[in-house]
Amino acid sequence: MITIKTKTDIEKMAEAGKIVAAALEKAAEVVRPGISTAELDAAVEKVITSHGATPSFKGYHGFPACCCISPNEVVVHGIPSRRNILREGDIVSVDVGACYKGYHGDAARTFAVGNVSDKARKLMDVTRECFFRGAAMAVAGNRIGDIGHAVQTLAEENGFGVVRDLVGHGVGRALHEAPDVPNFGNPGHGVRLVRNMVIAIEPMITAGGYAVNFDRRDGWTCRTNDKSLSAHYENTVVVTDNGPVYLTLEA
Ligand code: MG
Repeated sequence: MITIKTKTDIEKMAEAGKIVAAALEKAAEVVRPGISTAELDAAVEKVITSHGATPSFKGYHGFPACCCISPNEVVVHGIPSRRNILREGDIVSVDVGACYKGYHGDAARTFAVGNVSDKARKLMDVTRECFFRGAAMAVAGNRIGDIGHAVQTLAEENGFGVVRDLVGHGVGRALHEAPDVPNFGNPGHGVRLVRNMVIAIEPMITAGGYAVNFDRRDGWTCRTNDKSLSAHYENTVVVTDNGPVYLTLEA
């Protein structure tokens, strides 16, 4: 069921969103060569709990950490670990959810660890731009396919792959609500967007093919089949008559 939010719902979601943004700003500050993904996770969790919020992902279907931290060919759902040390030239995606007063915010960024290759930089830049192209379609009266089409067009124009097996989603009192928000699709198709729907738009873009697999041992880590780099950029967005309102962009 798609829940349309009230003004009060959205005010509360904006508070959750600001906490998520603050947590990601902290992540940007502390990412550096030599830090473990567990240390990065702990820094983010501290920001969330210090605001009186709880990490949305911790315990979600048994996920063992605060953030999903996904280096290089890991697309999403990487599990933070003390043994996973970030190195110069890596890219790393950090996906953060926070629940505050019963409402969730959800966002992700991909960071460069030190200096990265031109190709990695381009992948990160295009993935971010894919988000904004898609989000620009978050206007009441448009359809879900308009968002996916905008994301897919820019990604593929740049020779990148669009992950199919994972998609964006509605957000509210639950972390994942209807509708699905794919990063591919046909304009004019799919669920009609209504004023005050809140959705997480989250392009997952690869420097190679779009096929992915899930780690058989941990059941979570999602990697590109061809080991190509992958980037992720996400915000929680309110659909309005005049376009997107971003809840997780700034603390
Ligand atoms: Mg999400």
